[in-house]
Amino acid sequence: MKFRDIYQNADRPVLSIELFPPKTAKGRAHLDRELAQLMQHPVGFVSVTYGAGGSTQANTLELVKAIRKRYEITTVPHFTCVGASRQSVREYVDRAMADGAENLVALRGDPPKGETSFKPAPDGFRYAYQLVAFLKEIYGDALSLAVAGYPEGHVETRDLALSVRHLKQKVDAGADLIITQLFYDNKDFFRFRDLAVKMGINVPIVPGILPVTKYSQINHITKLCGAKIPAELTRLLVAFPDGSPDQQMAGIAAAIDQAGELLENDVPGIHIFTLNNSFATSHMAAALGHYFE
Ligand SMILES: Cc1cc2nc3c(=O)[nH]c(=O)nc-3n(C[C@H](O)[C@H](O)[C@H](O)COP(=O)(O)OP(=O)(O)OC[C@H]3O[C@@H](n4cnc5c(N)ncnc54)[C@H](O)[C@@H]3O)c2cc1C
Repeated sequence: MKFRDIYQNADRPVLSIELFPPKTAKGRAHLDRELAQLMQHPVGFVSVTYGAGGSTQANTLELVKAIRKRYEITTVPHFTCVGASRQSVREYVDRAMADGAENLVALRGDPPKGETSFKPAPDGFRYAYQLVAFLKEIYGDALSLAVAGYPEGHVETRDLALSVRHLKQKVDAGADLIITQLFYDNKDFFRFRDLAVKMGINVPIVPGILPVTKYSQINHITKLCGAKIPAELTRLLVAFPDGSPDQQMAGIAAAIDQAGELLENDVPGIHIFTLNNSFATSHMAAALGHYFE
């Protein structure tokens, strides 16, 4: 089912999850076990990230196809412009659609390791809105597109209003859905959403939630993507040894509170970054299950 229909037809918020394609057979076996747990919950769709380079790109499409076949659920590949010419964009999307994809998360991507600024591939795209426009021109309504939004501004565009203006360009180019970057302070999300609506963005804006299960790991991720962990949450987490069961449960409880407040404030759904583990997501889905079914 296309994003538009998923959100338009839903009479309840949509629970969706993000996975990444494992690089090893062991990682894949782990994911298969975790997926069996995740699929016990009312998951509306599964999205699969696109690696920064090399073999994981083919793995994205393979995983998307395998999950769709195994669970008969909407699965969505991500795609980035990194190293992508117009021709390779078409090859990837043609293959995804031939396999049954009706949706794509369309992204610019980050500069490769060691590079400080994003350089488009020859005949490629500098910004995601250009990718969105290109895809709409070729595939029209046969493909529904989600794009990334940044409640705290993007790491290269700290000015929130400017960052939202750039988001508006992606929606004007044809995006049907916005999934946000992770954030831990709902005030940031509400401010961002208000601004987006004020600027005329009228597609669903779905908050992306990453439950903290290991403080050091999430601290690293937030630094890379320019998100902050509020001091109060940091204090709560660092009271426990890093990665300990107590810290994990404190992180999950905070994520349940965060998602609960968002769900009480009219979000169209919650997108959980699972990092290929079911434990935190299952706790969240169980605690918040009454919102989803
Ligand atoms: C939900 C989600 C899923 C993601 N999945 C992946 C994934 O699978 N693989 C991966 O590698 N990365 C992924 N990312 C990370 C993403 O690739 C990075 O955040 C990347 O730095 C920006 O991508 P974008 O599509 O938002 O780019 P853009 O929207 O193109 O924005 C990039 C930067 O350019 C600025 N900008 C945009 N338009 C203009 C303009 N017209 N003029 C000047 N500046 C402009 C923006 O403000 C921003 O600072 C994901 C992020 C999110 C939130």
